[in-house]
Amino acid sequence: MTKKGLKVAFPHMDNVYIIWGSLINALGGEAIIPPYTSKKTLSLGTKHSPEAICLPYKLVLGNFLEAIENGAEMLAMISSPGICRLGEYSHSARNAIKDLGYNVKYFNLDLYKGKFKEIYRFLYETTGCKNPIKIIFAINVAMRKIFVLDRLQNILSYCRARELKVGQAEKAFKNGRKLIFDAKTVKELKKAEKEVTKQIQATPIDENKEILKVDLTGEIFMVLDEFSNQNLEKELGKLGVQTRRSLTIGGWLKDAIIPKIFKNGKTHLERAEEYAKPYLQRDIGGDALESISDIRYSHEQGTDGIIHISPFTCMPEIMSQNIFPVIREDFPIPLLTLVMDEQTGRAGFVTRLEAFVDLMRRRKRQLSAEKF
Ligand code: SF4
Repeated sequence: MTKKGLKVAFPHMDNVYIIWGSLINALGGEAIIPPYTSKKTLSLGTKHSPEAICLPYKLVLGNFLEAIENGAEMLAMISSPGICRLGEYSHSARNAIKDLGYNVKYFNLDLYKGKFKEIYRFLYETTGCKNPIKIIFAINVAMRKIFVLDRLQNILSYCRARELKVGQAEKAFKNGRKLIFDAKTVKELKKAEKEVTKQIQATPIDENKEILKVDLTGEIFMVLDEFSNQNLEKELGKLGVQTRRSLTIGGWLKDAIIPKIFKNGKTHLERAEEYAKPYLQRDIGGDALESISDIRYSHEQGTDGIIHISPFTCMPEIMSQNIFPVIREDFPIPLLTLVMDEQTGRAGFVTRLEAFVDLMRRRKRQLSAEKF
């Protein structure tokens, strides 16, 4: 129990729980980690959501309902002034939980009101800790965990596309997450990163395998969360594809939280604003600017293809899909768009991936034959 007597929970969203969970625990609070998002989560969330709302909302609500079942007394979520429905997520989830009769506290973490003040208020309310030095120390470790996880994801992706036995690299990564969660200091975190890297790299691989490189872009939740994207990266790995997430929590942090003085070079959003400008003049919400600009970026990087993934009814990504044909006239790169909701069938999804991989492979061979 925290000093305030509240057990606090957050939505799962890929590995984000590691950051929040370990931060709360480090400051003497008690984090309730909802079970990994599953069919049960989806069905709970869908049952209590408006039918046409986007998939991430349904999963967030499902996470909250499962966290309450596991004893959560406070639910917390980052709120945003988003131009799309993101701006309504937090209020809608709070109302749905209230309507269901649950007596839990809800914390709207409004980072756009003054991020550092808001984070301090949140941590004080959930852990009772008012020591600014201790809080800064804990936040520093938590933020570093985000970048460590992003680096480990890249190593995982490299090994997964080349592994001799399917699933080995992913198993090592998933087992290693506990070490990252438990690290309490920067020193411990560095040690944990080294150890998990070693474990993933111990996967026997075929270094000479002909692999394809694909970037993933779209709505950030769908890009990151393996349940909602039906294990997209794992499926691609089986087909010999190394993936790179264009959207990451680390990238979001650099754009939304970390002060400019600590940043090197252009952030994803800064690059997006520049690259997308000729095709889209203003922010239309979600990750549309990033998605559009990523087509040019991936083309410039010589990537073999790009996959755009978004939830059904996502307004910003519907707009970006309509702009793709124009930007691809300037930057021709194989593109697959995947629109997901709770009805998306597995067999059709895998068939589309296989067809896309086949197309990229033939194109790559043709391009290299033309060089000689
Ligand atoms: S970006 Fe799309 S999926 Fe995300 S909240 Fe907005 S409308 Fe929903």
